[in-house]
Amino acid sequence: MNQVKRAEMFRRFKEANPNPETELNYSSPFELLIAVILSAQATDVGVNKATAELFPVANTAAELLELGVEGITPYIRTIGLFNAKARNVIATCRILCEQHDGEVPADREALEALPGVGRKTANVVLNTAFGELAMAVDTHIFRVSNRTGLAPGKTVLEVERKLMRMVPREYLLDAHHWLLLHGRYVCLARKPKCPDCLIRDLCDYRSKTENETQGEQTDTRKVRRKREAIKEQEDTPVSKRAPGKRQVR
Ligand code: SF4
Repeated sequence: MNQVKRAEMFRRFKEANPNPETELNYSSPFELLIAVILSAQATDVGVNKATAELFPVANTAAELLELGVEGITPYIRTIGLFNAKARNVIATCRILCEQHDGEVPADREALEALPGVGRKTANVVLNTAFGELAMAVDTHIFRVSNRTGLAPGKTVLEVERKLMRMVPREYLLDAHHWLLLHGRYVCLARKPKCPDCLIRDLCDYRSKTENETQGEQTDTRKVRRKREAIKEQEDTPVSKRAPGKRQVR
């Protein structure tokens, strides 16, 4: 995908959604950090349900630390891997209290040193909570980057680095959310909604899907042709039918 197409792609994303936001509910960098830790292999909807119960009870590092693993578990047990996540959250809260005055550090190295926080989570927090130009590549963004030709790569890190170079700088702050939402709602893994896609003409994907109604029309045409072939055969006297020709069914 060339530079002109890349600029046009993000111009359209911005026009359609000028202020894209994460779908995780949060009201502080700490709440965002905890929500992102909980969201690994879980849906944002599931995490929001859990944090809607948890955060009114405890939404600081000190308060969650006080709850402890046993205290936090009932709030998050509907989320996948909740045992490991409960341990990570409490261990993270302990480090925040002991080393960062209970605050979330706006620093990649310090973030990645927290249990349950990898490069992707650190990128989300740096970008969304602290407004840094960072690109958290999740499964949706990885797919969209490869399919469209925006930033093809074999690994998450390769795609992240390419995106940081390829996305026009004026769009870099919000690019993560635009690409994620596009992958989650339009460029779906199994059947992308190409007919409804606002960047269809810019996208390099070779197997774009067709409109459902076009598919139906194709099916209808096939059925009609088959019926006509059967009728033609029925109208032909047996003596004039081609020898050995199979009956159309
Ligand atoms: S045209 Fe299809 S494959 Fe390309 S970005 Fe849009 S939905 Fe995805």
